[in-house]
Amino acid sequence: MRILVINAGSSSVKLSVFDMPSGEQRFEHEMEKIASVEEAVAAIPALLREKNAAQVDAVGHRVAHGGMKFRDAVTLNAEVMADIKDCVPLAPLHNPPAIAGIAIAAETWPGVPQIAVFDTAFHQAMPARATTYAVPERWRDAGVRRYGFHGTSHQYMMERVAAELAMPASQFRLISCHLGNGASVCAINRGVSVDTSMGMTALEGLVMGTRSGDVDPGVFAYLNRTQALSPAEVEDALYHRSGLAALSGIGNDLRDIERRAAQKDARAELAIDVYAYRARKYIGAYAAAMGGVEALSFTAGIGENSALMRRRICEGLECLGIVLDHDANAAVKLEGFEAPQIQTADSRVKVLVTRTREQWMIARETHRLLSG
Ligand code: AMP
Repeated sequence: MRILVINAGSSSVKLSVFDMPSGEQRFEHEMEKIASVEEAVAAIPALLREKNAAQVDAVGHRVAHGGMKFRDAVTLNAEVMADIKDCVPLAPLHNPPAIAGIAIAAETWPGVPQIAVFDTAFHQAMPARATTYAVPERWRDAGVRRYGFHGTSHQYMMERVAAELAMPASQFRLISCHLGNGASVCAINRGVSVDTSMGMTALEGLVMGTRSGDVDPGVFAYLNRTQALSPAEVEDALYHRSGLAALSGIGNDLRDIERRAAQKDARAELAIDVYAYRARKYIGAYAAAMGGVEALSFTAGIGENSALMRRRICEGLECLGIVLDHDANAAVKLEGFEAPQIQTADSRVKVLVTRTREQWMIARETHRLLSG
């Protein structure tokens, strides 16, 4: 079965074509800095024709927010589309491009099954103590709760770590760190996501490229009173003008920040320090939440490539049995889907680094759903 995977975001569209169940990738392409999702998706058939990959049997779409409704991937129809549209207020940046991508794909490949795979689905098993904000009941009834994101990536990490340790996921506790431009940590207790750092929206938790992660919610009223900023203006700044970019003053790319920090630039050093400290706090919290941890994994742009950040995050975690082998950490250079271990021989916790495979997971889920 040939499956086209479309991952339509606000500024880029990622495409892949896989033959399933072999998992062989036929085609991959990323359109960056796009003017409109509609135009980018409309250009897909010509791109596929060029590569002799225009004939597809199914299309899998990444959808960021599935709200309370979706615990699993689902075949798209009018009812499901309406439910995904209902989630737009929860993911105003992320769901609209996916919806546009789905609409165009349905026009382009009529009669070909379209499947939605949700970033929130893996976290639907989280217990109420992790999903509940202590806010008025009426707000909770209106959907104010924690959902979590990057579920496809965290689930893949769980499976990849299980394969590498030759142990079923039901036998270990994993803390999975997805550290890209968006970033989250997930506590996976014996195969089940029990907590994750992103909450109702993709703003909570870790410091990210341009997102603040955790801030005191009192910031909204304070800035309104003292600087006449509206909630929408504060929200926009927390999404787009915060995080590593705001702290460093030089942008959201950690490579540039690391270069400046090496020259003792104080803002770059602070950015790295705040980022690592926040991640370390979450790892400590999740070890406590699960009553222990056997494995820690790093993935996505920063997790896969920055030995410095992995080292800074793990500093002080020796008390949890997490001891990095600094040489092994510095030597990581991922080429494929290998998952090197970077802990010392006497570290109680295994520490792994590997590439995430969200596109492949979406193809796999699409194939699984369609083959019953
Ligand atoms: P992602 O969203 O997973 O593509 O991650 C993108 C981010 O990863 C970039 O903005 C960089 O901050 C970071 N990144 C990528 N490569 C490196 C590297 N070699 N060293 C440090 N950070 C990196």
